[in-house]
Amino acid sequence: MIQRSTRLDAVHYELCGPLYEKAKELELAGHRITKLNIGNPAPFGFDAPEEVTRSIMDNLWHAQGYSDHKGLLSAREALRDYYTAKGIAGIHTDDISIGNGVSELILHAVQGLLNTGDEVLVPSPDYPLWTAAVRFSGGRAVHYRCDEQSDWNPDLEDIKSKITSRTKGIVIINPNNPTGAVYAPELLQKLVELAAEHSLVLFSDEIYDKILYDEVEYRSTATFSEEVLTVTFSGLSKNYLAAGFRAGWMLVSGNKAKAKSYLEGLNTMASLRVCSNVPAQFGIQAALEGSQHIQDLVSPTGRLRQQRDICYDKLIAIPGISCVKPKGAFYLFPKIDVKRYNILDDQAFVLDFLREQHVLLVQGSGFNWQQPDHFRIVYLPEIQELSKTMDKLALFLQAYKGA
Ligand code: PLP
Repeated sequence: MIQRSTRLDAVHYELCGPLYEKAKELELAGHRITKLNIGNPAPFGFDAPEEVTRSIMDNLWHAQGYSDHKGLLSAREALRDYYTAKGIAGIHTDDISIGNGVSELILHAVQGLLNTGDEVLVPSPDYPLWTAAVRFSGGRAVHYRCDEQSDWNPDLEDIKSKITSRTKGIVIINPNNPTGAVYAPELLQKLVELAAEHSLVLFSDEIYDKILYDEVEYRSTATFSEEVLTVTFSGLSKNYLAAGFRAGWMLVSGNKAKAKSYLEGLNTMASLRVCSNVPAQFGIQAALEGSQHIQDLVSPTGRLRQQRDICYDKLIAIPGISCVKPKGAFYLFPKIDVKRYNILDDQAFVLDFLREQHVLLVQGSGFNWQQPDHFRIVYLPEIQELSKTMDKLALFLQAYKGA
């Protein structure tokens, strides 16, 4: 028997897990499945900004060779200027690394930091790659509570109570996947103070930082301190609707002199995979300098904003379902009354819905949420389809008896 590494024993990514496999089986059997399991804009008719695609096409000829392991200098210069203008101090092009999506960089950033048994504070619910990356690196993902009663904001007291001598960092996902929460500057300030007090690294996943609704105030975590080592992540997948290009970046700021060894480690990690996909890197500068593409989609008459509203309104009209209205990203993370529907296992609930109505959602436990009382919806489909899908959910629940 060939066994997998035991390091994978506690590593899960339910967005493409057993339910996704079941959906593929149903598709092969001839059913049309509405896949609301992953935040992939293109299949729902969203195009990347034209200037991004054009820049990649125009430069394809020049993209045949490897780039520097951290990425094209022109793209990193554009990123340096962009983040400097946003208020992050002291950025050098060497502090920026481009990867095959943010996913690869999350793995680098975590693997490059942790020793066996080290702890990282990760939100619950989280984007599950964060928990997976910590566990795969031999670390312990210690989940801190995000409080649904308080718009899914991180519970600072819970975070404080979980800091130990093994804690190396805190993960912040803002705007948040799966909850859609956007954190107020005062809260970020407190998180930064906490990190300063305990010499922790802040991992700030800001991949949705342009997908903001209702004119909510937004600030990047790294703008709060020139001292706290902060690793900021973003990329083309969401803000620029180009998930398939696989281009993301990470930026290290704060007191880099204190983190020399870690930065050398990150450099090694980047060089081990030689470089990221070069054609896609040519889209980065064009994206940063580009149009109002995403702003138009989130404006009051914009497609994403309208989809959020219709999906939310229909959802909360279903008996036994409540939801905090998201302020960012493109997900809803509703709560379901488990007593009313007799739900003991959230995966079984989502599977039943998939089998009966051919809609694929992801159960809350897939986001490291401990109770079986949540699920996530991706609201990328056009209004008509979203509306129909919510009707299917309402119909399904009318008759649902659970376990
Ligand atoms: N971080 C968050 C919060 C995400 O939601 C995602 C994708 O859904 C990623 C990171 C990974 O993005 P990518 O690897 O496409 O850049």
